Formats: sequence, C-alpha cells, structure tokens
Amino acid sequence: MCKFCVQHGKGNKWFHHVDNFEKKHLDDKQRLELSRAIYLETSKENIPMSSFIAGYGMLLGGLPLLLRTPAVKYAVRPAANRLVEKYHVGQVITLEEAQRMVDISGHVALFDCWCRHRKGNSEACCMGVGAYGDLADDIPELKHINISVEEAKEIMKQYERKGCFHSVWTVKPPFISTICNCDNKVCHGTTGLALGVTSALHKGHESAGTLPGKCNGCNLCIPACPFGARYAIDNLTTVDVQDCFGCGLCRCNCPQGAIIMEEKS
Ligand code: SF4
Ligand code: SF4
Ligand code: SF4
Repeated sequence: MCKFCVQHGKGNKWFHHVDNFEKKHLDDKQRLELSRAIYLETSKENIPMSSFIAGYGMLLGGLPLLLRTPAVKYAVRPAANRLVEKYHVGQVITLEEAQRMVDISGHVALFDCWCRHRKGNSEACCMGVGAYGDLADDIPELKHINISVEEAKEIMKQYERKGCFHSVWTVKPPFISTICNCDNKVCHGTTGLALGVTSALHKGHESAGTLPGKCNGCNLCIPACPFGARYAIDNLTTVDVQDCFGCGLCRCNCPQGAIIMEEKS
C-alpha cells in the first residue's frame, strides 16, 4: 500500500476506488478550472486563462530552469515537490492495473498527450477517465474522441509494445483525471524525476522479478527499462527493486517469459 492508498483507497488501491473517479470532485472550482486548463493546453487555440492558471503555468514553465541552476535548485526543489503533490501528481501502473481502471471508469475520452504536444508532436494517447472523461464533452474547443473500454485496452497494449509505460494522474488528488501512455523521453513526470522533483511521478505498487530457470541472459530487458533498474550480473539479468517503478515494460520485452510482476510487500 502506498500513501495514496492509505489516504484515499479505503482498503483498495486508490486508483481502483470508484469514489476517486466521481463528478462530485469537480464541485471544487479550482479543481474544475485546472482540469479544463490541462485539457485546453493540448489545444492549438489561444485560450484565455484565469490568473490562477496563468500563475501556475508560469511557475511550472520556469521551474525546469530554476531546478537546473546549481545555486538555487536545492532551495526550489521542496517547493516544486509540494506544488506537484498538491495539484497534479502521477504514479506508474501496470497494464493490468490500467485496464482495470477503464473497467471501473466506463467512459474514456482520448485526447492529445500534453507532454508530446509541448514538444511539437501531436499524438492522441492520453485517456481521460470517469468524470474527467465526461468533462471533455463539455469543452467545445477540445479535440477528443470517445472510445470504448475495449478500444482503450487495445491502445494501451499497443503503446506498451512501442515501449511506453502507463501512469495514472490526478487533478488535486485524489481526483483521477487520466491514464497516460508515456514516452519517458518527453514525459513531464520523468523529466521532473531527473530534476529531483520526486513527487512528480511515484513508483507503482508492483516490482519485476526474474525467474532464473527461464532467463537465458539475452539482456533484451535492460534497455527496455525506462528507469534503469535492470542490470546483468554473473550471466544473469536481475532488477534493483529499489529502482524499479513497476511499469512492466521489461516483462513485455522478455522473449522467454522470464519476468513476472509481483506486489511489493
Ligand atoms: S504523462 Fe505521459 S501520456 Fe500523459 S501527457 Fe505526459 S507523456 Fe503524455
Ligand atoms: S529479456 Fe528475459 S530472458 Fe532476456 S535477460 Fe531479460 S529476463 Fe532474461
Ligand atoms: S525493472 Fe521492469 S518493471 Fe521495473 S521499472 Fe524497469 S521495466 Fe519497469
């Protein structure tokens, strides 16, 4: 159990607790405003923003520069961690956990990946789920399509085969906004981690284990890991459980079926 489950899971994984997908969370005006703004950030239109959103955007836009500045980064990091923890926190999930989420949420709105969009690459692979997915239909400027649960599950599988990991995101936790299919080279979560903002993307609930009797030492799983958690030792490939984020990409790339995902104790 992670700290989010303790606070918001009611005995279950927090991202599988139906309460965290519900419309009542959007009664919070600030959350509604930020939810709409995150959607509209993926639109090419020049959308007017409220002072709260403009301020938040400026802060986030300026943070990477501050966090790369040696003299100030140690002072800025705690504030950056508090900011993302309060407004837009993410956690890595496995394919199975992501697929169960769409079963629970029922409705999926597919829209442009915010992080890829910021790098000039429009790719519709972010999935608004639950009440956040419903909100997409209320925003005329937003380009999105509504897809079925089965279509969403198939898209997730395709992205995993392309080397993308899954993550769950919030707008002011515990409200769940999206399931993402992330490219670690552009994802703001992994970028945040690299800058020392560890709250940007939390480790998942599972970790990878290797079955020695099945592993042939081909090492294909090492470059498949976006978090650098796999390494070779004595002709065997293994995982550093402390570094493992529980995404399951190594399992997807193992031709021997030698990797299993296990709940962390
Ligand atoms: S978190 Fe992942 S899928 Fe979501 S917007 Fe960023 S890279 Fe795209
Ligand atoms: S990909 Fe599978 S078989 Fe190859 S080294 Fe990794 S665990 Fe072993
Ligand atoms: S070891 Fe496997 S499950 Fe863990 S982070 Fe790397 S690819 Fe993901």
